[in-house]
Amino acid sequence: MSRNSSPAKLLIIYTGGTIGMAFDNSGSLVPMGFREIKYHIPEIAKLGYEFDMHAFTPPIDSSNMSPEIWVALCGIIERNYNSYDGFVILHGSDTMAFTASALSFMLQNLDKPVILTGSQLPIGEIRTDAKENIITTMEIAGAKKEGRSIVPEVCIYFDYFLFRGNRSKKYNTEKFEAFHSPNYPSLAEAGIDILYKEAYITSHPQQSFHVNTKLDTNIAVLKMFPGITQSAVESILNTPGLKAVIMETFGNGNTITAPWFIQLLEKKIKAGIIIVDRTQCDGGSVELGRYETSAYLKEIGVTGGSDMTFEATVTKLMWLLGQDLPVAEVKRLLEISLKGELTEK
Ligand code: ASP
Repeated sequence: MSRNSSPAKLLIIYTGGTIGMAFDNSGSLVPMGFREIKYHIPEIAKLGYEFDMHAFTPPIDSSNMSPEIWVALCGIIERNYNSYDGFVILHGSDTMAFTASALSFMLQNLDKPVILTGSQLPIGEIRTDAKENIITTMEIAGAKKEGRSIVPEVCIYFDYFLFRGNRSKKYNTEKFEAFHSPNYPSLAEAGIDILYKEAYITSHPQQSFHVNTKLDTNIAVLKMFPGITQSAVESILNTPGLKAVIMETFGNGNTITAPWFIQLLEKKIKAGIIIVDRTQCDGGSVELGRYETSAYLKEIGVTGGSDMTFEATVTKLMWLLGQDLPVAEVKRLLEISLKGELTEK
């Protein structure tokens, strides 16, 4: 892989997260201002890249991430799109996969890398994982082949692996290896060299970049378990203003077949509420009709969530509902890949 001859120019957006946190007097980690990145990691000068930094004030713990901040992030990228070769977003790991998924739908015809990273230990700690994560993320964000970005998509880089953002999931709170991509291969692996897996990386778009930040958050989640009560299910499905429900089911998308449950789902679907069936399993896909315990779901109009992560399902629904499309069209688009977020059968 050869780099472009002129040095890559990156915009680093610091939103908050452990990477920039410090312990307060009571021993809790709290967000703090991130000093000049060169202060923390003088080695990055050796990359030979130019970069600027945009820091959120105040920085946030990513548990407070919100659709409004996703819109703000899109605005920053849109305003700076032509001035930079790539974008690095420093973000708390807790909701990083939601932000990466949301941005993948909101940034249209992306032709440059937008890579999120963070760390499990603050950058000031002696054993921090922040330095490697930032240095390699920057290297990937600026990497080009024949003058074009090698990875023109929204990704997460963490602990030597680059994953497609809308396929990623935080699965571990303790290991440096905090993320995985259960249903799609990694896009790159960092060892002595950075090995890009071009066959899995999205191709360059034909049309020009723009953002579409319309979101509708009128969704809810129904997580199934043996013994769930009718009143608990009703309270979720009767949520005022509700437009869609992510129903987290067992195995290949199976769930209880009690008549009260089937009738309730059918009534809501007839009233125009979208029910997406997503498996509680991390790996594998929903297959409506494979078992008798899901065949009826298909008949009454439940939509299959394929192998999408929870994070991708939430943000794809918010984005599709924000587009003011007919219900049938939202259902159709849910079952096809818009940004590589699911495997089409
Ligand atoms: N609570 C932190 C956050 O998500 C955790 C982290 O950064 O890893 O902001």
